[in-house]
Amino acid sequence: MPNPGPWPKNKRCALSLSFDDARPSQLDAGLPILDRAGVKATFYVVPGRFLPRVDEWRAAVTRGHEIGNHTTTHPCSGKAEWSRANAVEDYTLERIAKELDAATETIKGNLGVTPVTFAYPCGERHVGRDAGRTSYEPLVNARFLYARGDAVLNSPVDIRVRSSDRAELGALLEHLEEARRSGGWLITVGHEVGPPEHPDRLTTLQTVLEAFCRKVVAAMPDVWVSTVAEAARHVHTLNR
Ligand SMILES: [Zn+2]
Repeated sequence: MPNPGPWPKNKRCALSLSFDDARPSQLDAGLPILDRAGVKATFYVVPGRFLPRVDEWRAAVTRGHEIGNHTTTHPCSGKAEWSRANAVEDYTLERIAKELDAATETIKGNLGVTPVTFAYPCGERHVGRDAGRTSYEPLVNARFLYARGDAVLNSPVDIRVRSSDRAELGALLEHLEEARRSGGWLITVGHEVGPPEHPDRLTTLQTVLEAFCRKVVAAMPDVWVSTVAEAARHVHTLNR
């Protein structure tokens, strides 16, 4: 059933571009593309990665980009070798709560903004192991307006999260078309931004990002391009 869409200014759907981990290529390759297109995006930063270039991140905030919380040390499952030394399985709720708050304080202190949205590192929503495995979603929900990918209670909005890494332009446009059909909200997730020969598998191709932004801004006036926070605020107003 086509849904007319609950978006402001008679827009049919919403689009938020998000990028994780404050990787340097986001400053070097991603932000120039977004700024040229006039697209405000959301960056889920970790302190260890944004602090070395804090002035540039502060400037991105000034230009209207959103900074979201992505924890302090990015704990993921220890099933992955690289994350074994900082595995969520070794966390307690108390420890992850401290990380959420410390990240917020570091962002506030250095970038002058309070993060209102959150992205789970590696999409992992639990701490502890075996019988002690517990969701930390209640801690996130108590602190943030919205966690990327979550459904919003009582909201009719169809929310889809799709990777922009290694995506072809056609695939991104198809995801957007689906959101248009349902009157929904598409959130893309990227990591590095660079050329196809970039060694990291998690790379959003800069040519694709540029073409996607240009197409959406110039040729799709019915798409509401907004940060995750802006769109989430709007979705929440629908439930009042
Ligand atoms: Zn991450």
